[in-house]
Amino acid sequence: MVQRIRDFAEALRKDLGIVVKCEACAKCVTYRCLDFRGYINPHAYVEDLTWRCSWCRTPSTWVRFASLHGVDRQNLAQWRPPPWLKRRW
Ligand SMILES: [Zn+2]
Repeated sequence: MVQRIRDFAEALRKDLGIVVKCEACAKCVTYRCLDFRGYINPHAYVEDLTWRCSWCRTPSTWVRFASLHGVDRQNLAQWRPPPWLKRRW
């Protein structure tokens, strides 16, 4: 786990992953921060955003950054923006 990431811009610079753990179904998903570039405010605190479990859609309060070093790309979840979401940054 990675500590003290200031904001999303820093996470992008370090090419980190975002781990979302679901308290409801115990599913744990790792996303790549780069997938969210342009869709998350660079100044946002990622842990404060609302994340949902990709399986059961339950909002998760367990969100952490993680190093992707040594992580197999195939184990990463691919995030794609929903059609209604516009690139803003
Ligand atoms: Zn879930």
